[in-house]
Amino acid sequence: MSEIFTLQQLAQLQRNFVRRKIQINLEQTKYKVIDEVVQILDWKTTPSEFECHIFWKDTYVTDEEYRRLLPYQRINHFPGSYMLGKKNELCRNLNKMRKQYPQDYDFYPKTWHLPYQSEELRNKQGTGIFIIKPEANCQGRGIFLTKKLDPFLDKHYVVQEYISNPYLIDGLKFDLRIYVMLKSITPLKIFMYQEGLARFSTKKYVKPQKKNLSSVTMHLTNYAINKRSKDFVFNNDTNKDDVGHKRSLSSVFKYLKEQGHDVDQLISQIKSVIVKTIQSVQPDLSHLYRSQQHNVDGIEQCFELFGFDILLDSNLKPWLLEVNHTPSFSTDTPLDKIIKKNLILDTLILLDIRNKPKKNYLDQKRAPTFQRPQKLSQDEKEKQINQFTIFENKHLNGYIRVYPDENLQYYEQFMPPKQKEKEQTIIIQQQLEFTKQPDKILKLQTESKPPLAKIPKRLSTNKSFTELDGQTIQQLTLRTVAPQTRTPSQQRPFSSIAVVNRPMSAVRKPLYGNQHQNLNQSSNQQKLIYPPPIEQPPKPVFKMLQIKTFSFQKIENTQKNE
Ligand code: ADP
Repeated sequence: MSEIFTLQQLAQLQRNFVRRKIQINLEQTKYKVIDEVVQILDWKTTPSEFECHIFWKDTYVTDEEYRRLLPYQRINHFPGSYMLGKKNELCRNLNKMRKQYPQDYDFYPKTWHLPYQSEELRNKQGTGIFIIKPEANCQGRGIFLTKKLDPFLDKHYVVQEYISNPYLIDGLKFDLRIYVMLKSITPLKIFMYQEGLARFSTKKYVKPQKKNLSSVTMHLTNYAINKRSKDFVFNNDTNKDDVGHKRSLSSVFKYLKEQGHDVDQLISQIKSVIVKTIQSVQPDLSHLYRSQQHNVDGIEQCFELFGFDILLDSNLKPWLLEVNHTPSFSTDTPLDKIIKKNLILDTLILLDIRNKPKKNYLDQKRAPTFQRPQKLSQDEKEKQINQFTIFENKHLNGYIRVYPDENLQYYEQFMPPKQKEKEQTIIIQQQLEFTKQPDKILKLQTESKPPLAKIPKRLSTNKSFTELDGQTIQQLTLRTVAPQTRTPSQQRPFSSIAVVNRPMSAVRKPLYGNQHQNLNQSSNQQKLIYPPPIEQPPKPVFKMLQIKTFSFQKIENTQKNE
């Protein structure tokens, strides 16, 4: 196996990474393993929402939490990641893609969302076994197998064709938990962790028949269900990660290789499933992320650690069963612990969290005059992306990059044909070049683009206030605007921009000569320079218009409506 580490290799990896000033907020996580990793990294935990460089949260992030993020802060979820994590949303997104690309999106078992697709599903009755899942549950709760669909057609369920020929090891059905890090949404950056888990059912698998349909420990591989069975064997020795009902991913790959299967091909199929699944929501996630983004210096503030559940059928085809956007980091067994600890450690390292952006932000805040942060030019952005890529290549540890990779052109067809995305593709291609030659610093070859029309700055378009600098505007606006009601720690990122913007829009309202004069008198004799007074509008002139009158007459309609 060329690419995949064994569990032992992973555990012995040397991680050379020291960043002591980093603080993490763990107030909203119950998982001890995160704290243990933070101690390894020599970071500090803090309850402060302001001090921390990063939040780790067990549940998804709300819009409000996302908006309150300060520009230097990171959080372990993307707004909208439920679009993959909720069964009904995943079904909607992957069905949409399958409609457009039936061949490429056939890795997801045929799935229907009830009651909305009841008519389509009614025709399927009698064609096989279906697995019925509640829309929003997890850990196998409420899932059952059935042949009859009628009783459920008007209920809220996700119904899926049951894959009845799973690949078996020791006569048992199993599924694979693959950890995937979405590091950036635009440009898209996806990493797959080399180590993961294989969860086994505890009862020998028999093809579904009427009498065994209700056997959950035969048909469902959830750990939460099978660990309650008396047959469940816990793995207590990490040196033997191929025994028991929860094993390491690498031990299953090793087994498959020993059986003569092409594991490299299987891994590349799994990578493709991962990328195409994320691509199905990329435009939506990107839109949500960008529409509220407060960061200007290129740091991706959100990342996500997904758990992809993959079932192998007897032909070794990987099927995507579901995506977890809040996977469990419980560490019940030593095997769990070693895998999850390494996973979290490598994730936090790959994020490349530094103190400098925080320092810059605080310096800006403390400065006597507010300076609007400079937006990066396209060249600077590309340079920065390449610096990120160089860092990533050096700090992959247990991760492998799955996007962008050598299949970039194949994946491009699933991207929406927007110019914006095309521009990103140029950057991604450069990124890929770096990935191929990690040691070389390539000189950027930016494609010659037509020169963009320079958008003039709003302030300099008006001759009468070209003299104003940021300071004058800020002083002026702070004086005329209601004081802020939030305490500093509650302030939204770049609250001062909001302060500038609000009055800017307020004062954009034209002021007539006399109003201008009044304002100047009432504002402590300080001259109001912006906005300049405008002329009174001319008085309306009334004209006589000729009005024509018409009369109507009823006529017989003999023609038919076309
Ligand atoms: P949950 O979020 O509740 O775990 P899943 O969709 O992962 O729900 O399903 C639970 C288990 O049921 C899976 O781990 C797998 O063993 C089995 N399963 C789910 N869907 C299918 C399917 N289409 N074919 C075969 N087995 C399935």
